[in-house]
Amino acid sequence: SDAPAPAYLDNLNAEQRDAVETLDGPLLVLAGAGTGKTRVLTTRLAHLLETKAQSERLHPHQILAVTFTNRAAKEMQERVAQALGRPVEGWWLGTFHSLSARLLRRHADLIGLQSNFTILDSDDQVRLLKQIMDAEQIDPKKWPAKQLMGIIQRWKDKGLTPERVNESVEFANGGAKHLYQIYQDRLKVLNACDFGDLLLHCLTLFQKHPDVLKQYQNTFRYILVDEYQDTNVAQYLWLRAMAMVHRNICCVGDDDQAIYSWRGAEVGNILRFESDFPGAKVVKLEQNYRSTPHILAAASKLITFNDGRLGKQLWTELDTGEKVFVKGVWDGEAEARLVGEDIEALQRNGIGAAQMAILVRAGFQTREFEERLITLGIPYRVVGGPRFYERQEIRDALAYIRMVAQPNDSLAFERIVNVPKRGVGKATLQTLHQYSRDQAIPLPAAARDLIDTEELKPKMRQSIGGLLGDFKRWGEMLADKSHVEVVQAVLDESGYTDMWRTSKEIDAPGRLENLSALVSAIGEFENLTSFLEHVSLVMENVQNDADEKVTIMTLHAAKGLEFDYVFLPGWEEGVFPHQRAMDESGVKGLEEERRLAYVGITRARKRATVLYAANRRIYNQWQSALPSRFVDELPDEHIDRISDTGLGGHGGNHSPGAWGADDWMKMPSWADESSNRNQVLGAGERKFASSGWQDRMRKNVIDVKPDGDVSFSSNSKSSKYKVGDAVRHRKFGPGTVSAVEGNKLEIHFEGVGTKKVVDSFILPG
Ligand code: ATP
Ligand code: MG
Repeated sequence: SDAPAPAYLDNLNAEQRDAVETLDGPLLVLAGAGTGKTRVLTTRLAHLLETKAQSERLHPHQILAVTFTNRAAKEMQERVAQALGRPVEGWWLGTFHSLSARLLRRHADLIGLQSNFTILDSDDQVRLLKQIMDAEQIDPKKWPAKQLMGIIQRWKDKGLTPERVNESVEFANGGAKHLYQIYQDRLKVLNACDFGDLLLHCLTLFQKHPDVLKQYQNTFRYILVDEYQDTNVAQYLWLRAMAMVHRNICCVGDDDQAIYSWRGAEVGNILRFESDFPGAKVVKLEQNYRSTPHILAAASKLITFNDGRLGKQLWTELDTGEKVFVKGVWDGEAEARLVGEDIEALQRNGIGAAQMAILVRAGFQTREFEERLITLGIPYRVVGGPRFYERQEIRDALAYIRMVAQPNDSLAFERIVNVPKRGVGKATLQTLHQYSRDQAIPLPAAARDLIDTEELKPKMRQSIGGLLGDFKRWGEMLADKSHVEVVQAVLDESGYTDMWRTSKEIDAPGRLENLSALVSAIGEFENLTSFLEHVSLVMENVQNDADEKVTIMTLHAAKGLEFDYVFLPGWEEGVFPHQRAMDESGVKGLEEERRLAYVGITRARKRATVLYAANRRIYNQWQSALPSRFVDELPDEHIDRISDTGLGGHGGNHSPGAWGADDWMKMPSWADESSNRNQVLGAGERKFASSGWQDRMRKNVIDVKPDGDVSFSSNSKSSKYKVGDAVRHRKFGPGTVSAVEGNKLEIHFEGVGTKKVVDSFILPG
């Protein structure tokens, strides 16, 4: 036609424009970071609606567009509206999970659910699995339910329903498949599904009801997929099923940015594309619009150390700009200080905090940056996970520490009395609470008072008594040991560290790292009181909605995003590349780490600053650290090395062991798994999902404040009963008082013999 090309096409180069205008037939855009893949998808959406709405009666609901996060979907929605100058509604735009949920709610009955089915969070899943294992008489100590959950998730990632599983995994003597079947049956009864089911049920639906599949295949005339390199098998099958009739499917991705293989993603899907859609057109984009040449060159060089790449050249027209900064520092504190200084300097030059990001490999790394930014009064947000002091394991540990510093802290006591499990159940807590209320004393005081009575079962007297004894001992330790040593002892001797060490939960290693970071933090303070004071100040520092905030997030969460100024801390062997990635997956693991480094550097528009420390404090010990091999792989001509490790050269003069294969140093980061739920479920779905940590956190926020030190001495109490009184005890029945000691009575019960009980559980006979 002779009509002038729409304005939005002007913002594209020739290859991009080719990709945008090739609307029909299968199309694969395979290109490096920052080459405009996402922009192509967005423009293509606009172009589809603009050119085909009239001529071919294309309706928005015939378009299916998949993004990796919910936030990306929202952005795409806005961009398309902007390009078209009008809002678009009714199309299928979202993550695989949100789209699947939307589809399933329409056809729930066909797979045995009701349309208001619940989406379980991982806590619920584990609870359910535990019940099932219990009924099947499988020892949960030997075979942790969390491990089973992981196994089932991986099967679901592969699109395997229980009937289709034919690999045997080491769990409950080959019983995992059977348990999986029972679990699926149970979920149906509960009208619930888990996260993986959203896709799996769709696949089942398509298979069992070809008519329904047909309906969608006919409906979806155009399909678009971003971040294609990170789709797993289930998602791939889902897409392929949808695309088979019209075959107008456009996928964009970058094999060098595949960073989710640990969650079942398969880069092989890129290669499969061309065989599944013969004659597919492949467009390569090589011009990078995001980063300066030095940044681009550094990232491009780094990634060449990986084998088996599809390989691509990237170039940019942008100005030369700064080289990539590589800064060696003495320790983690210096690292945070330096980043803080840089941020302040940028701000002085009028640069907004929203243009800056600190991208970490693992969650434990955020602590020092959070502290520093709080000290400097720079607003920040932690994306994809709770702030450091709000994480579950940190709150637990803080509760222990509070109990040492302040032995009558009721909330702290209640939080940890059964963490790790000490068999303290509801009934026992009820008894403690009732007594605490009656006597107007704090909960720990109530416990101390009751442990030598028979109000508590012998087992409880032993376990709670043991714990209280421990707290007394730890409190006394403060007299001749450093507070850091005491905290370390508390976490170890209470069994708390071991609880996570033996946990099979996917983020348990990350939690151990966080605990280590906490102990390091404590070392920065004079004593426990000043540390706890600091924490309450940090927690109160509600960073009200400043628009300009520095972003702190994991590298995994940063995919697809861009910032002018990017800080990449912790480039040390063992931290990044992460030890467990290498231990568990060898070269493959290392290569995925390198792709993560590539993702990290390529997030930067104007400046990338890589940092490494010569020393890290691991729990209470200093260890020297080696700079990451990735630092060495950066090309000299594109980087500016600034070393201030205080040593002139690599390594430190502390203890000889570098970051080793210690078991605390394990994998991913806090909650990549769980935070992803919130990223990929649409707003509409989130209300269905029994939102895990958010709710818990909201509740926990309340328990931050210690409830004050209520002094109390049991000697000051006296009973209104005297020897010879006829009384009745709520549990032991009628009896006669035979001795009185303060508010404690010895009573001869008619049924159960002589027992020591407390006054407040007695009624006149
Ligand atoms: P990633 O691999 O990190 O997801 P990408 O390939 O999706 O990157 P985009 O995010 O789409 O890249 O684009 C990177 C940046 O370059 C964006 O700021 C985008 O607006 C800009 N950009 C893309 N194409 C062009 C173009 N033709 N002209 C000007 N700017 C462009
Ligand atoms: Mg992108």
